[in-house]
Amino acid sequence: MGKITLTINGRQVSGKDGATILDLARENNIAIPTLCHHPLLTPSGACRVCVVEDESNGRLIASCVTPITPGMAIKTDSPMAISARRLFVELLLAGHPDSCLVCDKGNRCELRKLASELEISRLRFKRLRRFYSLDNSNPFIERDLTKCILCGRCVKACHEIQGVTAIDYAYRGFDLKPATFQDRGLAESPCVSCGLCVFLCPVGALSDKSTRNLGKETSKVRTVCPYCGCGCSLYLSVRDQRILGVSPCPENSVNGISLCVKGRYGFDFVHHPDRLKSPLIKKNDEFAEASWDEVLGLVASKLASYKPEEVAVISSARCTNEENYVAQKFARAVLGTNNVDNCARLCHAPSVAGLAMSFGSGAMTNSINEIRNAGCILAIGTNTTEAHPIVGLGVKRAVNNGAKLIVADPREIDLVRFSHIWLRHKPGSDVALLMGMAKVIVDERLLDNSFIKERCENFEAFKKSLKGFSLEFAQEATGVEKEKLVEAARIYATEKPSSILYCLGITEHSHGTDNVIALANLAMLTGNIGKPSAGVNPLRGQNNVQGACDMGCLPEVYPGYQSVTDPDIRTKFEAAWGCKLNPTPGLTMTEMFDAAYRGELKALYIIGENPLLSEPDISHARKALEKLEFLVVQDIFLTETAKLADVVLAGASFAEKDGTFTNTERRVQRVRQAIAPVGNSKPDWWITNQLGQRLGAKGFEFSQPSEIMEEITSLTPSYGGISYKRLEGGGLQWPCPTKDHPGTPILHTQQFTRGKGRFIPVEYKPPMELPDKKYPLVLTTGRSLYQYHTGTMTRKVEGLNVLKGEGEVELNPADASKLRIKDGEKVKVSSRRGEVLAKARVTETSPVGVVFMTFHFAESPTNMLTNPALDPVAKIPEYKVCAVRVERGEK
Ligand code: SF4
Ligand code: SF4
Ligand code: SF4
Repeated sequence: MGKITLTINGRQVSGKDGATILDLARENNIAIPTLCHHPLLTPSGACRVCVVEDESNGRLIASCVTPITPGMAIKTDSPMAISARRLFVELLLAGHPDSCLVCDKGNRCELRKLASELEISRLRFKRLRRFYSLDNSNPFIERDLTKCILCGRCVKACHEIQGVTAIDYAYRGFDLKPATFQDRGLAESPCVSCGLCVFLCPVGALSDKSTRNLGKETSKVRTVCPYCGCGCSLYLSVRDQRILGVSPCPENSVNGISLCVKGRYGFDFVHHPDRLKSPLIKKNDEFAEASWDEVLGLVASKLASYKPEEVAVISSARCTNEENYVAQKFARAVLGTNNVDNCARLCHAPSVAGLAMSFGSGAMTNSINEIRNAGCILAIGTNTTEAHPIVGLGVKRAVNNGAKLIVADPREIDLVRFSHIWLRHKPGSDVALLMGMAKVIVDERLLDNSFIKERCENFEAFKKSLKGFSLEFAQEATGVEKEKLVEAARIYATEKPSSILYCLGITEHSHGTDNVIALANLAMLTGNIGKPSAGVNPLRGQNNVQGACDMGCLPEVYPGYQSVTDPDIRTKFEAAWGCKLNPTPGLTMTEMFDAAYRGELKALYIIGENPLLSEPDISHARKALEKLEFLVVQDIFLTETAKLADVVLAGASFAEKDGTFTNTERRVQRVRQAIAPVGNSKPDWWITNQLGQRLGAKGFEFSQPSEIMEEITSLTPSYGGISYKRLEGGGLQWPCPTKDHPGTPILHTQQFTRGKGRFIPVEYKPPMELPDKKYPLVLTTGRSLYQYHTGTMTRKVEGLNVLKGEGEVELNPADASKLRIKDGEKVKVSSRRGEVLAKARVTETSPVGVVFMTFHFAESPTNMLTNPALDPVAKIPEYKVCAVRVERGEK
């Protein structure tokens, strides 16, 4: 693109062809006021406040929509421009209520600020106002369109950034306004309560209910969202040790100005009255508050009384890296056991195992902000807009940019609306689908031969294994018409770069590792790896599940995936930690529960997890926990699991401590303390540190998390170059081995972590439990946008409960009619392991024969039903498929 030279206010400036006058002025620090404009939205020139004078013809032009041309002579502050600007602002003020003193926007109102800059003290025009009733229907957002200045930012944000289109312009002329379909309340629209329109509204027409009457913050603390693995940056507004509100942090590369409803509004849990404010000891079946001295002494002495094989630690994907590091160090160096695991076992253990076998590294290969530039996206087993909303925005943006989207999911998830092809395969038939696609790619010679030859191994064996995956077989196994399968394979192989996004729909199967390997094969086959906007991208669920794995909260590896069975590595850790280390890999989380059930595991220290809702076959998990001789739970609320504990240690929330989280794209980011820990709660790293010290161990004298990070980086090659100082700039993606390494946005660019990428043949195996006469339906499980994991935090946020407050059983109208079940009716869902009551939701979203439930609600604990059958490699349970029966009525 060529450069164009012109003058602005007599200064010669040049800019890119296609830039607007406003773009160029801002690049050169020349101020032009705006109201409707935002750099991330397409310009509309609606408010005209940005008018400037074209000196060549004496005309006024809107600078936000006028492209620069050679030789232009622009005056931004000519008397004519200023006078017109004043006129436009006065007209806006004439239609705007005179209620600034009581308006919630206060001195953040852009209209008021502009009026004052233009020294408008009195209006020349008669006030001509429109009156609308308040829309209070959404639990978080208030709409007072009487104050609307029709800038259009909300409409554009909802369409262009969110891709939701909950609002648009309605009516004409004087009655024009942004409205929902049929001008109903926001709650009756498809609005997902992301709050972006509120953030962008220049006046008080849209406002957050949560910040109402709370006054102005005294500080804003940049930190990371405590919910999903996207790892969005945000600011916490704080005053008097309270979080007043949340706003996005536009200068970050993950989420820019976007957040989802949980990150934007889901922070009330921090100050919830039910927060644990003191450690508790159970005496005669009742919890009593105790001093830290007493509980730490008790826990230390009890844990020390067990042999290494009798004790285990479950660490937390919600806690910081530093806390996870200390937890696994405590298990290994103090308790002498490798029995340490985290909830990745229940979500992405097959990614860690499968991608490590194929590529040598089990993490997302590419970065979130590359997704928008993909040529093709294969989204399989990921309800992205609900579980990873910010990644979902990237997918929608890619489609807007012309990408072809292939959605493979049994349910008609939101992304299907944006897809070019929807492969509605049967739950658990992923290997047949992916190997079928691979066969088409090989048969039609759409493969990348030079990539395969130069970068991969074992291709011939893989090619041979495809023989069993004829289109007829794939169609039969998956239920997808073969023509669609062929088309999907062609698109994936040719519309490069092709990016694979996947989540628990791929991993939570008895053959989850095979599913992951099949995806890796597909990417290697087409050379879609090690390149921008391509790759194989597991979307990690919890905020720091990636970090918990990186920190070695896994039974077979130390931090940085260094094997506990490798004598050299063990020697390195023994020297650093000053102890002898156990060479035998420990128990996985699922094996811990079985060992506890058998009476072999006697004591368990659970940090920030709630397995009594998240484990499969909850009845079995409960019995296992009840058989323990000593259970200690560290959490911020008295969860279902904590209620069973002998001792409860009161931890601090994300807002009350320093540290780092590692998001799904391997980005290590700073978590910053905004308020003091509530009551007498303590940061998790402090608690585990104290336990280590009480047991006489050396190396637990950390006085702050940055010291822990220094130890992490000294022992973990992939984190070697990370320091708090370097993270000030916004995060670094591992591998970052040295202090001057810039981090690694894309893995496997030159060679795979293991050297050559390995093609691994896989066989199709159906799910372990299929429907039969007694249990004729398939149950599959997933997440809701409005709740998070076992609901420990989100259930404490009133507004989120308004938006989604109870578990539902989604079933297809055909099944509902056969079972004579009506929408909204209470139904009983039973499997071989238990039964659950929940409300029926009759919807085409679920295919015939398949029912769907989320697992967030203790009142309808879905995991009473799920199958604990394990993937033999990753030991993940088969949450995604089990056989159930659905009946009307109460138990
Ligand atoms: S909150 Fe988000 S989804 Fe709802 S109207 Fe505003 S921008 Fe659209
Ligand atoms: S509600 Fe706010 S953002 Fe939307 S058009 Fe009106 S003033 Fe602009
Ligand atoms: S997308 Fe995830 S990380 Fe981002 S705001 Fe929502 S829950 Fe938080």
